[in-house]
Amino acid sequence: MNDELRVLIVDDDKTNRRVLKECISGIAQVLLAKNGHQAIEKAIELQPDLIVLDVVMPDMDGFSVIETLRNRRNTEHIPIIFITGSGSEEVEMKGLKLGAVDVIGKPLHPGVVQARIYTQLQNVFQRRLLGSLANIDALTTIANRRQFDEVLEKEWNASLSRQTPLSLVILDVDYFKKYNDHFGHLSGDRVLKNVALTLKDSLNSENALVARIGGEEFAMILPDTHLEKAQALVKAAIESVQALNIAHPASKCNPVVTVSAGIHSFIADQVLNREAAFDLADKALFKAKENGRNQFSFTDNLNPYQAIEIETGLSEF
Ligand SMILES: [Mg+2]
Repeated sequence: MNDELRVLIVDDDKTNRRVLKECISGIAQVLLAKNGHQAIEKAIELQPDLIVLDVVMPDMDGFSVIETLRNRRNTEHIPIIFITGSGSEEVEMKGLKLGAVDVIGKPLHPGVVQARIYTQLQNVFQRRLLGSLANIDALTTIANRRQFDEVLEKEWNASLSRQTPLSLVILDVDYFKKYNDHFGHLSGDRVLKNVALTLKDSLNSENALVARIGGEEFAMILPDTHLEKAQALVKAAIESVQALNIAHPASKCNPVVTVSAGIHSFIADQVLNREAAFDLADKALFKAKENGRNQFSFTDNLNPYQAIEIETGLSEF
């Protein structure tokens, strides 16, 4: 297993903390908290992969800690193992009902503790692996459609609640079918991979997402990004694809591989929905293609039920 996994030990008793630490330090990185408040603070800030939580503690007991963590979006997913000295079925049931993945009784037997923690860490590791595979496009190694949908939903809600701008970009490789016909599918796949990684590099932002959402179709989600900034980013992205200088003799717009893009910038609204926003970005892309490709078009119209006037982006670089 890998030593990147981190376990937060929460116990008011110093001896128990030491015993637990000895059990875990060989298989994962150890974080310590000596009361409930500290546990919550550290869980939020350090995002451990597993929490080993004592039930009986002064001030705030383990039950209150797990309830608090389960009600927070960035801690609700962290698995928790309860440590209890009571040995009562009632306490054990309560812990499991609150969402604990396991309950370990005191006195602590190091071999047993270690084995049970190891099992939970393996689960975490496998879930993480499966989760990352399910969200990645196998050909290009960037995000796939599924991850795009998830992130768009998240950022849509963030834009709605904070009323911050969000830009959605759809991009398409120009005359890609002609490239495939000319050079074959293997070469086409290499182009997709190259373009994908170039688009990703060109954004160079932790918050932004670049995904492959279809054959030669890509999309970007740019949180906290208004139209003007989105235009600059997309212009740079289009330029960096052209700068790859991949020969495309079958292209009718340029001797090298290029992309076209459509941008829709907006603040999420109760009336609108994500599909409508996507549709507007797609219409802008269509306009960019109509105008001659290797360029972008955009719209920041907040109401998709009105006629859409899409302005033309730069037609030449
Ligand atoms: Mg205790």
